[in-house]
Amino acid sequence: MTQQIQWFPGHMAKTIREIGEQMKLVDFSLEIVDARAPESTQNPQIMDSISVKPVFLILNKIDLADARQVHKFVAANKDKFAGILTTDAKMGLLSKDFLRQLKTNPVYAKMVENKKAASLKALVVGTPNVGKSTFINHLAGKNIARTANTPGVTRFLYWIRTKYDLDFLDTPGLLWPKFENQEIGTKIGILGGIKDTLLAPDDLALWLISFIQKNYPTVIATRYKISHFPLDNPIAALMSITSQLGMRQDFEKASLKIINDFRSGKFGQISLDFYGDDYIEN
Ligand code: GDP
Repeated sequence: MTQQIQWFPGHMAKTIREIGEQMKLVDFSLEIVDARAPESTQNPQIMDSISVKPVFLILNKIDLADARQVHKFVAANKDKFAGILTTDAKMGLLSKDFLRQLKTNPVYAKMVENKKAASLKALVVGTPNVGKSTFINHLAGKNIARTANTPGVTRFLYWIRTKYDLDFLDTPGLLWPKFENQEIGTKIGILGGIKDTLLAPDDLALWLISFIQKNYPTVIATRYKISHFPLDNPIAALMSITSQLGMRQDFEKASLKIINDFRSGKFGQISLDFYGDDYIEN
């Protein structure tokens, strides 16, 4: 990856400060991440602010992730959170499934037991494109009308009422100013968390081809019906795929197609964060 991905939204620091100030109003936090990269899509700058209350990590888009890696992530990280839940926000059963997991969690059960108000209040955070809006919309149903500018709440944060004795304090999809390593930026780019126009699609596609070839060897050849596949050479692979797609020399167009195929699950269940011995470095 040659391109340096940097992201510096002006309101980032201000929003984090506001989140810190609002923590006294909520009972707990929900950090939503993409189940395909549950570590890389966590915001490392927000934990300090939100961990003054219990934090539940939600691995969303579970339908697209590799169950083996999800299992390993949960086993290795379960002590770091009040709970790790898995959701498919596109599925009609989201509310039922999510609430079942929440209600069987001992930390949550204790909060319900001790609650003083009619509903519990949760701050909801997540990097862009992890499915935060889809998740909230499902739970809020028709009550999605955002109640902006309640006293003490600024223009970046909104209260949303759900039908389930739960109120959400929604926050904007946040990225932090500088990724700790380039690979995290690449993964977030592939998962749609950074505007495509800020990225070089062929860099992302080459990284993705290389990663998938190493970790899920048959997937790309099958998807694009390439029999003599240049397995160890992502550039040659991209050229073959481009021609197979009938896109002549338009590598950028083919790259976007590959990335979009991945994003929408056309390669099957594939994770980008790998754990333990499984990982073959890219
Ligand atoms: P946000 O930027 O975090 O608010 O993300 P959105 O809610 O806008 O979702 C981004 C994209 O992911 C949309 O195309 C959603 O339909 C899709 N999406 C959200 N949740 C899921 C999920 O659990 N599974 C799948 N397959 N797609 C999802």
